[in-house]
Amino acid sequence: MKQGDRASLPSVDRLLNSAAGAQLAGRYGRTLLLEAVRGVLAAERTRLASDPGARCPADAVLAAACAARVEALLRPSLRPVFNLSGTVLHTNLGRALLPEAAVAAAVGAMARPVNLEYDVDGAARGERDSHVEAWLTRLTGAAAAVVVNNNAAAVYLALYALARRREVLVSRGELVEIGGAFRIPDIMASAGCKLREVGTTNRTHPQDFVRALGTATGAIMKVHTSNYAVHGYTATVPESELAAIARQHAVPLINDLGSGTLVELEAFGLAHEPTPQEAIANGADVVTFSGDKLLGGPQCGLIVGRADLIEKIRRNPMKRALRLDKIRLAALEAVLRLYARPETLARDLPTLRMLTRSQAEIRTQAAGIMPVVAKAADGLATTRIVDCLSQIGSGALPVDTLPSAGIALTPRGKRRSGAADALAAAFRALPVPVIGRISEGELILDLRCLDDEHEFVFQLQHLASPDGAP
Ligand SMILES: *Cc1c(COP(=O)(O)O)cnc(C)c1O
Repeated sequence: MKQGDRASLPSVDRLLNSAAGAQLAGRYGRTLLLEAVRGVLAAERTRLASDPGARCPADAVLAAACAARVEALLRPSLRPVFNLSGTVLHTNLGRALLPEAAVAAAVGAMARPVNLEYDVDGAARGERDSHVEAWLTRLTGAAAAVVVNNNAAAVYLALYALARRREVLVSRGELVEIGGAFRIPDIMASAGCKLREVGTTNRTHPQDFVRALGTATGAIMKVHTSNYAVHGYTATVPESELAAIARQHAVPLINDLGSGTLVELEAFGLAHEPTPQEAIANGADVVTFSGDKLLGGPQCGLIVGRADLIEKIRRNPMKRALRLDKIRLAALEAVLRLYARPETLARDLPTLRMLTRSQAEIRTQAAGIMPVVAKAADGLATTRIVDCLSQIGSGALPVDTLPSAGIALTPRGKRRSGAADALAAAFRALPVPVIGRISEGELILDLRCLDDEHEFVFQLQHLASPDGAP
């Protein structure tokens, strides 16, 4: 078999030492460039061997291929996207966005030594959680607090430290699964606790708990059914009543709130979501909740409650394995500080700012950018402004939606199956991927979470049709 122009292919050294090669080595370093040159030449050799008519590319073309290879390798894997999915706290898109004050605090802690576990002023702050504990007790009314990696860790650690090798009573209606990886029965098992289900799926009564209590009981647990709602013929035991039962039998009541906001959301025009302060007031001994859901902070899990129980949790060796790093502690402290001034919280905390944007404001934004979107998408889709419904996400207020607005893109040739998927893929292929949502054959871009509309609009010039044609 005759082979292509293989003999003309430059050697690795010739390409590396060419003018273009030297320039690339300056930009990327010799190690990465060498790897790319070898890869490109090997690919060329294979191509030329299989195609008798193929010509060897010029050195400049080979150098460009090498540069592309290095660029592809160096491109960050974790990168910003536009969340126009309509879900504000989107777990797969990283949940809460930190306020500027928290970003600054985190950056400060990253680059400089900090008094993480060092008592600089004799105020007995030699413990890392002390930087946020005072804020947490002040905001929740609890006596003490610890923080860990996330709420799953908080639940795990509370169970492990307080009820290992004992039974934990949970209502059958609260055996929740959150996003697959977090399931109450599984976390219970891994914490070494024996799950004891009481009551039924739709109705659980005080007597169900009382009958199940015994010498083997280590705790009673209440779980906020954060991502679903049971309607119809239902009954749950009021928290204060459950707390009284727990107290009578001298076992702790652990309340896993999931989202757990630190403010009354009604004050911001949103539906009520249980707060830790409410759970504490209702008699819970230990309350767990997430830092990056409605609270709007960094990923972490907060455990607040009775001083003796929190101390037991703090002293458990697993606390060390689950503890927070200085970066997130700095960010969390900055976020909690914002709560001291609820008057400006809806302005300063991005999560609350997005949740409280009015439909009218979002409609106005949609009208403003509509012409640019329509023009950029012209070859691909027809566009119109639509009213839509956003969701809070991350399990909070599952049945409540927020009136919003956005842009609906109807693919040209809509009947072609997969046309909407192809359109969604084209938006995801933009320099800053745009994540929308598909509904009834259309791509919906919900603008509730669109902060930087200039960057969004500017990059639309790169929008390419799904088959690659401009
Ligand atoms: C979200 C949630 C969790 C898990 O919290 P993470 O911070 O994601 O680990 C646990 N319990 C409930 C009820 C939740 O809603």
